[in-house]
Amino acid sequence: MQDIEAIGDLLKQPQSILITTHQNPDADAMGSSLGLAGYLKKRGHRVTVVTPTDYSQNLHWLPGNDEVIAFEEKARVAISQLMDEVDIIFCLDFSSIERIRELGQMVRQSRAKKILVDHHLEPESFTDLGYWDPTAAATAQLIFYLIDKLGDLDLIDMSIAECLYAGLMTDTGSFRHPSTTGDVHRMAAFLVDRKINVSNIHRQIYDNVSLEKLRMLGYVLNEKLRVLPEYKFAYITLSDSELKRFRSKTGDTEGLVNYALSVDGVVGAAILIDRGDEIRLSFRSIGDFSVRDLASRHFNGGGHRNAAGGRSRLSLAETEDWLLSVLPMYQEQLLETH
Ligand code: 5GP
Ligand code: MN
Repeated sequence: MQDIEAIGDLLKQPQSILITTHQNPDADAMGSSLGLAGYLKKRGHRVTVVTPTDYSQNLHWLPGNDEVIAFEEKARVAISQLMDEVDIIFCLDFSSIERIRELGQMVRQSRAKKILVDHHLEPESFTDLGYWDPTAAATAQLIFYLIDKLGDLDLIDMSIAECLYAGLMTDTGSFRHPSTTGDVHRMAAFLVDRKINVSNIHRQIYDNVSLEKLRMLGYVLNEKLRVLPEYKFAYITLSDSELKRFRSKTGDTEGLVNYALSVDGVVGAAILIDRGDEIRLSFRSIGDFSVRDLASRHFNGGGHRNAAGGRSRLSLAETEDWLLSVLPMYQEQLLETH
C-alpha cells in the first residue's frame, strides 16, 4: 500500500483528477483534499474536489473551498459523468467505501485509477494504489509526506500550508493527542514558515460558533449528559426533535462527545444522535480502553482506539438501552483505565 513511486509516475503527465473524502467531512478531510488539490493544480493537473455531503460552515474559509462540489440529488448526473471522465480518483481520509455514501457506487464503477491516502485502520481494498499509514496523526500529514517524497516541498505555498495545517491541527486535537510526535511539530513548523496565520486558523475553526450551537451545548450539558461513575463512562443522546429545536446543521454536533470525555474520572464517552434513517454513535476514550472494539463489536462501526464511530437501526431509546446492556462487559477494563 506504499505506492508512492507509482503515484509519482502517474502524475508525470497532466491528468484530470477527482479528489473525494468521507461524509460530513471534517477539517482533516477538507484540509487534506484542498491541500492536495492546490498542489496538483500547481503541477498542471485539472482537479475537482467532490464531497459526499455538505460540511460545517467553519471550514468554508479554506482556500479552494469555492470550487468544491458537495453531492446533492440534482448534481448526481454531473458528478457521475465526472467520475467517468477523470483519469485518477484520490480517496482521502477514509478506508471503508460506505463512508462516501452515494459516491461509493460511482467510484467503484469508474475506470479511473483510484488512489487511497489514509490513516484509518484496516483499509478495504477498493483502490488500485495507496499510501496508507495508521500511525499518521492526520491524512494531511500523509499528503505532506507525499509531496515531500515527490520532491515538491517547495510548491507548498501559503494556501496549501493553511489547508494542511487545519487538518493536522484538528486531528491532533490542537497538538495534544498521543499522535502529536516530533514529526508532527516539524511539519507544523514547516507550514508556519510558509507565513500562515496560525491564530487566525484556530479562530476560524474553533471560535466561529453559531449562537444556536452554543445554546444547544448549554442544553446538552445541563440536561443530556449522563455520567455513570460505576463504569467511568459518560454519554449524551440527541433526538431528532432536539436537533430541530436548535436548528442544528451539519457539523454542529461535532465535538460534543469530548465534553462527556472531559468529565473528571471519565475514561470512555459516547454520543448517540438520531439522524432520521439511523442512529449515529461517536465514541471517545483515553488510554488503553479501545472504543474501536466497542464500536466494531456492537455498533457496526470502527475507527481508532480512542476515537471511533458506529450506527444502529434501532430507535434512539433502544440504542441507549443496547449501550447500557453492553457496558457491563467492559466494566473491568474501564475501571482499570486511568
Ligand atoms: P467521529 O466520531 O468523529 O465521527 O469518528 C471518529 C473516528 O471513528 C473517525 O476516525 C472515523 O473514521 C471513525 N468512524 C466513525 N464512524 C465510523 C464507522 O461507522 N465505521 C468505521 N469503520 N469507522 C468510523
Ligand atoms: Mn483524519
